Amino acid sequence: MTHSHSPAIEYVVSFPDLAGHRIHVEMTIAHPDPQGQVLFLPAWIPGSYLIRDFSRQIETIQATSNDRPVDIQKRGDHEWVCAPCAGPLQLKYVIYAWDLSVRTARVDENYAFLNGTSVFLGVRGQEDVPQVVCFEAPQTHPEWRVYTSLPCAQEHPQAAQRHQFGAYTAPDYDALLDHPVLLGQPLVTEFEVYGARHELVFTQPVPDIDLERIRRDVEKICATQIELFEPDTREVPFLDSADRYTFITMVTENSYGGLEHRSSTALMIPRHHLPTRAQADAPVTKEYQSFLGLVSHEYFHTWNVKRIKPAAFSPYQLLVPNHTHLLWVFEGFTSYYDDLLVWRAGAVTRRAYLDRLEQIMAHVYRGSGRFKQSIAHSSYDAWTRFYKQDENSPNAIVSYYTKGALAALGLDLLIQQRTDGQHSLDDVMRYMWQHYGKHYYRGQPKGIGEDDMPAIIEAAVGVDCSDYIEHYVYGCADLPLPELLKQQGIEMRWQAQNTAPSLNVLLDDGPAGLTIRTVYEQGAAHRAGLSAGDTLIAINQLRVPDQSTLKQLLSRCQADQEVLVHFFRDGVLQERRVRLFPAPQDKCVLIDKSESTHE
Ligand code: ZN
Repeated sequence: MTHSHSPAIEYVVSFPDLAGHRIHVEMTIAHPDPQGQVLFLPAWIPGSYLIRDFSRQIETIQATSNDRPVDIQKRGDHEWVCAPCAGPLQLKYVIYAWDLSVRTARVDENYAFLNGTSVFLGVRGQEDVPQVVCFEAPQTHPEWRVYTSLPCAQEHPQAAQRHQFGAYTAPDYDALLDHPVLLGQPLVTEFEVYGARHELVFTQPVPDIDLERIRRDVEKICATQIELFEPDTREVPFLDSADRYTFITMVTENSYGGLEHRSSTALMIPRHHLPTRAQADAPVTKEYQSFLGLVSHEYFHTWNVKRIKPAAFSPYQLLVPNHTHLLWVFEGFTSYYDDLLVWRAGAVTRRAYLDRLEQIMAHVYRGSGRFKQSIAHSSYDAWTRFYKQDENSPNAIVSYYTKGALAALGLDLLIQQRTDGQHSLDDVMRYMWQHYGKHYYRGQPKGIGEDDMPAIIEAAVGVDCSDYIEHYVYGCADLPLPELLKQQGIEMRWQAQNTAPSLNVLLDDGPAGLTIRTVYEQGAAHRAGLSAGDTLIAINQLRVPDQSTLKQLLSRCQADQEVLVHFFRDGVLQERRVRLFPAPQDKCVLIDKSESTHE
C-alpha cells in the first residue's frame, strides 16, 4: 500500500460522469481510530450562515480495509461511524453536484466548481493532519486545467504542476475547506500587487469581455486595500497560506453572489455586468460598478473575517450554527469599505460612490423592521432570520450588511470629527489587523470577543464610542447620519421615487399575474387588509396585469383617494376599498456641496 506509512489524509477526486453531475471521491486514512473511525461533513460553509446539510448530496458511501468491507453507519445528520479496523481505511463515495451557487458544488461538461465543505469528509481526531487531494482529469476533457489557491503537493509522487491535474495539499482540514477549486477552460488573466500573484478566472462563455480593463481596475482595488492595512510594509496577508490569490468567477445568466476564502474568492456575476471591448471608452456602468464592489468586498474579507475573526469563529463549529453578535463588524464594515475602496482606488467617481451610498440608505430606511431588531441581534439571529427571509422580513428585521455599512460610515465620520481629522475608521481596521488578525495566524488564536469593540475603538483612536454602539448597534435608533454628513459638506434628503400615490407594497410580475410580495406595515394595503400572496386583478374595475399598468393607473389617482381593489386570495375573488397613501419618500439624495462649488 503506497499510503500506509503516510500520515496525511488523501483524497482522489474524479469525474467519470460529468453529464450526471457526479463527483467520485476515494479517500485513504492511513491510521484510522482503532475504536472505529468517525467521519463528518460540515453542515454549513463559513461565510454563509445557514445550516445547509451538505451530507444530503452524498448518494453512496462504502468503506474497505485491505480490500475487505468495513461496516459504516450514519450517526445523526452529518456523521458516519466505521467499524474498528487496523487500517489503512479506504472510503469511496459519490456526490451529486448540480447547484449554481458559490456555496456548494456544480459539475457538468462546461466546468466543475467545488467547495471542500461539499466534497471532503473530515476525519475526526485527524483534523490537524496534512491533507492531500489528487484531482484526476475527466477522460472526456483531458484539456481541462485546475484553478485554485490550494498549494501544489510538492513532496508528493503525484505532485501537480500549477494548473495541472495531480496532487495539491493543505496543512490541515480547516485549510482544505478554504480553497475552492475550478476545473475547466476558463478565461484567465493575472497580475502582481506588491510581489503577490493574483489570478482572475472567468468561466466561459463571456463574449467580447474587456479583460484588460477588468484586470486594471481590480489591480488598483487590491493595491488600495493592501496599502490601507499595511501602509508601511505593504505586506500581503494571504502569502501565509498560498502563493497566489485566485478570483474564481462563475459567469451566469442572472445569478449574483460571492463567498470569501483565505486566499481566494468564489464569485457569481451576470454576463451583462461585465464590460465588453465595444464599451472601452464608456463610463463605468452601474452593473460593472457592482461587480467591482463585489470583488472589493470579498478581497477585504481576506483581512476582515478570514484573519480578524470573532472569538466565536476561532475555531468554527461546523456541525452546528455558530452564533456571534459581531457580523455588523465583519459584514457591515466590509460592506462599507467595499464601495468606498472602489472609489479610493480611482475606479469610479466620487459621484458614482455617493450613488451607491444612496441605494444603501434607501434599502435600510424602507422597512420598519429596523425599529424592531438591532444589527447586533440581526447578526446573532442570521441563521434563522436574515438567511431565512420571507414576505414579512422588511417589517421584522434589519440587515447587518446595509445598516452595518451605515453604522461604519457613522463611526468613521464620528471618529474623524472627534479627532479633528487625525484618525478615522481606517485606524480601527489597522488596529484590529495588528492586534488580532496577524496574531491569529501566528498560532495564537485571538478572536474578537463579543463585547470588545468599544475598547478596541478607544485603544485605536482614543474615542469613546460606547454610547454610539449602545444606541445604534445594540439599539434600534436611526443613525445620526444627516448631522454627521452635513459636517462633511454632504446634505442628505429624502424624496419620492415616483409621484404616483401608493399601495405601500412590493410586487412581483408573475405567471399568475401581479402578486404582492410584501405589504409594508401600516401602509395603505395593510390598513385595507391586502396580504402578501394576493394576486391583483383590477383597480376601480380596470385590469392591472403588471406593475407598469398599475403605476400608470395610480398616477392618475390622488393621494388619499379611495379605490376599489379586486384580487384573488387562495383562489377566491375578493374586494377591498383601499385609501391610497401619498408617494413614499423612499429615495435618498446625497447632495455634495463640494461638487456644486466647482460648478
Ligand atoms: Zn461578506
